[in-house]
Amino acid sequence: MSARSNTPDPNDDPGCTQSDAAEEASAARDSEAGLSRRAMLMIGATGAAGLVTGAAAQQTAPAGPGIAAGAVAGMPFRAFVRYGTEGSVEDLRLRGIKPTQVLVRTRGSCGCYTVTSSVLGTFPQNAPAIPNHSGMGIVEAVGAQVRRVRVGDRVLVSGTPWCGQCHQCLTGTPEWCNYLAPGGVPNDPIADMADGTGVIESAVIGGLSEIIVAYEEYCVPIFSDLPDEQIAMLGDTGAVGIAATSVYDPVQIGQNVVIFGAGPIGLAAVQGARAQAAGKIIVIDPVRYRREKALEFGATTVLDPNEDTDTLVDRIRELCAQRTDRLDAGGQVAGNGPFSMQGADLVVEASGLDRFPPAVEVGPDPTGLLALRQAWEVTAPGGSLVTLAVQDGDIAFPASAFCLSGKRIYGGQMAGMNVMRDTERFITAMENGAVNIGAIITATLPLDRVKEGFQRVADRTELGVVFTFG
Ligand SMILES: [Zn+2]
Ligand SMILES: [Zn+2]
Repeated sequence: MSARSNTPDPNDDPGCTQSDAAEEASAARDSEAGLSRRAMLMIGATGAAGLVTGAAAQQTAPAGPGIAAGAVAGMPFRAFVRYGTEGSVEDLRLRGIKPTQVLVRTRGSCGCYTVTSSVLGTFPQNAPAIPNHSGMGIVEAVGAQVRRVRVGDRVLVSGTPWCGQCHQCLTGTPEWCNYLAPGGVPNDPIADMADGTGVIESAVIGGLSEIIVAYEEYCVPIFSDLPDEQIAMLGDTGAVGIAATSVYDPVQIGQNVVIFGAGPIGLAAVQGARAQAAGKIIVIDPVRYRREKALEFGATTVLDPNEDTDTLVDRIRELCAQRTDRLDAGGQVAGNGPFSMQGADLVVEASGLDRFPPAVEVGPDPTGLLALRQAWEVTAPGGSLVTLAVQDGDIAFPASAFCLSGKRIYGGQMAGMNVMRDTERFITAMENGAVNIGAIITATLPLDRVKEGFQRVADRTELGVVFTFG
């Protein structure tokens, strides 16, 4: 069943589905927060912003016009829309928002390699859609049931939601909050093109648009003065990289970290490893300027996977070797093969496949599978592997080593982030200079240059690309 299938209509009286006692308790809680749920629903039903007044309204009530869905319907805006085999910036008209949705005036949206196919690809897109899957901006209107953000808030629309109530959120895998699951929430058209064709948002977010209509669960209020483009990076690549070293199995002081891929995710992971006081930080990437960036951000060794491809794993294991082979003195047996004792405490796989031919140095395997296999091989027994990239095809591992080698493997959707918990921590680390996501951003471009921006992402000639608005 869809997580949203029971979403109440704002015109329904919630009292008809609750016992009086429960309703009373709920009203008491809401009233402590400054606004009763019934009053909020009334706002949603009538569109009247002035129903709640005084101090209570100032504390909790979303201020200003446009609270109700009807009040924003028809609003004109521009967005990059992919339809058929074409993509272009279109003039759209908003359909309105649901009681559980937030209307965001976009200020920034981070370009992600995963999205290159959606912008530049030649496959037919049957339902017109606004590509991308994150953004940030200012809340301009909220549905009547929204509590987390208010009109006027600065907000990150994260690529991953957090509801705090679904099974995955309650059992320790919030990166797979069910609002993200296929069928978790309806992805209905949010706007119409000039000919009346409805337009949806990719991943119920879109981002390459002056307006984002997002479910509340995807919204993270931002209480920081960091620049828009840096906050935008926290919706996707920037946050994923920092999380890779600090969420599943955080790097401990002096531990060795290996990072495959020095794109925006890998470079943020380098910064995260450095901030966690890692020992060796070994980065593998075929592109020279990316290896140089990695060194700038704290990598201790950079390797080109095209050089000595067959011995790369041995080389990394040697780099991670303990100081002695004296087993009675904390040492470690040297050696290779599936049961090698040598390897890194944490390995981050962030290289991925080539969806388009790179315009820079090309790695040894465009499918990305070789890097994934090598990443597993250089993970030490008891070490952790976080896989972040997308590959093409299937991969095989030696079964007994896969089953017995004690390697912890995290299929790292958003690197395991709880976005409501971790975004705040990452912002603090950015503010105090422990990580510098701004240094990963190499281009900020307007909406009219979306194709150019994603072409550069596909070419791998840029690192962080952020589209900015207004
Ligand atoms: Zn992405
Ligand atoms: Zn959830």
